[in-house]
Amino acid sequence: MKDVSVEVANEERVGERKVGDVVIYGGGIAGALLARQLSATAKVILVDPLDYFEVSMAAPRNLVKPDFSRQSIMPFAKALPRVDHVAARLTELTSEGGIVEDASGRRLLVTGKAAVLATGNRFANELVRGQEGSGADRHAFYQRFHDRLAGAERILLIGGGPIGVEVAGEITEAWPHKHVTLVESQPRILRGTSEAAAARAASILEKRGVTILTGQRIDGLLSNLQDVFAGSGEVTTDAGQVIAYDLAILCIGGRPNTAFMKQNFASRLTPDGHVKVAADLRVKGERTIFALGDITDLAENKMAFHIRGHVKVAATNIRSILAGKSPSLSYKPRTGDPTMVVTRGSRTGVAHLPLFGHTRWSWLVRKVKAEHMLVPNYAKIFSL
Ligand SMILES: Cc1cc2nc3c(=O)[nH]c(=O)nc-3n(C[C@H](O)[C@H](O)[C@H](O)COP(=O)(O)OP(=O)(O)OC[C@H]3O[C@@H](n4cnc5c(N)ncnc54)[C@H](O)[C@@H]3O)c2cc1C
Repeated sequence: MKDVSVEVANEERVGERKVGDVVIYGGGIAGALLARQLSATAKVILVDPLDYFEVSMAAPRNLVKPDFSRQSIMPFAKALPRVDHVAARLTELTSEGGIVEDASGRRLLVTGKAAVLATGNRFANELVRGQEGSGADRHAFYQRFHDRLAGAERILLIGGGPIGVEVAGEITEAWPHKHVTLVESQPRILRGTSEAAAARAASILEKRGVTILTGQRIDGLLSNLQDVFAGSGEVTTDAGQVIAYDLAILCIGGRPNTAFMKQNFASRLTPDGHVKVAADLRVKGERTIFALGDITDLAENKMAFHIRGHVKVAATNIRSILAGKSPSLSYKPRTGDPTMVVTRGSRTGVAHLPLFGHTRWSWLVRKVKAEHMLVPNYAKIFSL
């Protein structure tokens, strides 16, 4: 039975109410793919402060080739024509629905027969993921960052995961003479994939003149780098190595975007802020709230590659709920799966692939990702 006191309290706190069959919070890879599938048969509301879907894999290339972003940024209006997009941010999840707020501070209560949390990761700055604004703002960002990069000779990359490695590859392909230093706190770069693939990636970068420092941390600089355009400086690693730079770029992973759970659903979060999900991808203990993508506590690498599986399970189970039935499909996390394709610019890279294992074939990496950064795959999904 509905808690009437919650309903009255929410009415007082928000101006308006909006109702759909399914409300999806977050229009990234999980949310947008799910919205596209469900909108064929259900009334879908998508809440996202951005007005576009961005192919995240293309971000490293967009930084050096801003025109590439014209293909990788896909407006919701074109990609999801049957979906009702609300340009706002979920600020508080309640038992009745989501309280969302737009850029002007206007609040709305959004409710549906099922809700989906797909708000992904929040990064320290907007380098690889826009945090607000339009697709046009995002193009302008890439152009401005490119100009800053073009004028910098000594570039410091902090973080040797896939993002740092791909950014190093793009920079050294576009500007072979620049001095690039990559610092990683772990004993090796690319921790999420096999040792062989990581060693090959390191060797390709070193041949291009990149200095790779592993097992060293940089502290004390991170808060400055919330400003992507921060100026030049000098930093000392915890091992005493001094690095002077014209531009420092933070390439460390994000944290789950789940602050909206803290008020009423704190017990559904792990200590590091991931959402606890059951095998059917419903939030543990909830009947009609699902969570997908990077915010979940599923024990697997946080990758788009796995999210296709989340979307399939959630779409089937949500259709069951809309039909008055119980969800029956389960998702099995790809724990320990080292599959990864990490590019080094548009022509080469390394891969650990299902069936093949670690492959040294540059042509394969070029075909599966480096040439196009998967943009055509998403354009096809959205019929663009
Ligand atoms: C640079 C880069 C390269 C990558 N390369 C690869 C790759 O090659 N292969 C691979 O498999 N994976 C790759 N990944 C990982 C992949 O992109 C992520 O796993 C995937 O994007 C996660 O999808 P998601 O839908 O959970 O979150 P996201 O795609 O991050 O989407 C989250 C969405 O939620 C919105 N949002 C955030 N907060 C709120 C809120 N409060 N209310 C409403 N909306 C909100 C955001 O605006 C965003 O649109 C890469 C990631 C990055 C950053």
